[in-house]
Amino acid sequence: MTSIVVLGSTNMDLVAYVPRAPARGETVTGRAFRTIPGGKGANQAVAAARAGAEVAMIGAVGADDFGPRLRANLEHCAVDTDLLRTTDGPSGTAHIVVDDEGGNAIVVVPGANATVTSLTHGDEALIGTADALLLQLELPLSVVAEGARTARRLGVRTVLTPSPAQALPAELLATTDLLVPNEHEATALTGLSDPVAAARALLRDVPEVVVTLGASGCLYAARGAEPVTVPAPRVRAVDTTAAGDTFVGALAVALGEGRPVPEALAWSQAAAALSVQREGASTSMPYRTEIEAAFLSPDSLEAD
Ligand code: AMP
Repeated sequence: MTSIVVLGSTNMDLVAYVPRAPARGETVTGRAFRTIPGGKGANQAVAAARAGAEVAMIGAVGADDFGPRLRANLEHCAVDTDLLRTTDGPSGTAHIVVDDEGGNAIVVVPGANATVTSLTHGDEALIGTADALLLQLELPLSVVAEGARTARRLGVRTVLTPSPAQALPAELLATTDLLVPNEHEATALTGLSDPVAAARALLRDVPEVVVTLGASGCLYAARGAEPVTVPAPRVRAVDTTAAGDTFVGALAVALGEGRPVPEALAWSQAAAALSVQREGASTSMPYRTEIEAAFLSPDSLEAD
C-alpha cells in the first residue's frame, strides 16, 4: 500500500449561504449555515486515503469545540492522527459566504495551524516511512520548508500545492519534486498568464510541474520534455470545491504505486471529475473503487 504523509492545515469551514454578500457596514439575512471540516491539508489527506493509500496527518487542531470534531472526521476517513497536535486556543477556521450565483468570499483565520512551527523527531521518523509528503501553504512557511527539506534528506518525494498563492522561498522550491499550482497560482508565481509559459518558467526551479486547468484538465511539464495537456472528462459540475485537493491526493497515490505519469494523470482527473459532480469538500471525494471504474470506462463519466 502506498504510504502518504500530509504536513498541512485543518480548518472548520463555517459556511453562510446568502442571496448576495454584504457590503461594508451592511447586514444581510442568510438562508442557511453549515459547518464543514476542511483545510487544504486535511482535504488532501482524505482524498489520498479514499484513493487507497495509508495516510497520516501532521498539523494541529485547537482546544475549542471544533478540535475534537476535526480530529474525529479525519479518523472517520481512515487518516492517522497520532501526530496531529491539540494546542491551546482556537482551531483554524474558514469563514465563507456563498452567494446565489455560486460566488464566494472567504476569511481564513489560521488558529491552531499557526502554532505548527517546527517538526518533532516523531514527525521526522513518520515522514521517513512515506512514499510522498504532501505540502500546501496554510501552515507557517518555515515549517513547510522544514518538511520539504526533511523529506528530501530522507529520499521521500515532495508534492507542493502552492495555495494560497504567495512568493516561495528558493529553498522550498529547491526541495520540491512536484509542484501542482492551479492556473491562478501559476500566474501569481511567474507573472505569466499562459500556463505553458508559466510551467516552463517553473521548471527552472522544480523538476516536474502539473498546472491544473479546471474543466480543461491539466498541463504536465518536466525538464527535457515537451509539456502535454491532459483533458478532463466532460462532466456536469455542481460544486468544484476541493477538486484540486482531490486531484493532488489521487495523483500522489497513483505515482506512489508506480503508475506511469500519463496514466497517473488520467486516473487523478477521473477522481477530480467524480468530485465536482457532488457537493462539499471531503464529502465529494471518491473512493478507490469508484476512481478505478471511472478510469477504466471514462464514458461512464461524460455528460450528454
Ligand atoms: P482546478 O483546481 O479548478 O484547476 O481543478 C483541479 C482538477 O479538477 C482539474 O485538473 C480537473 O481534473 C478537475 N476539474 C475541475 N473542474 C472540473 C470540471 N468542471 N469538469 C471536470 N473536471 C474538473
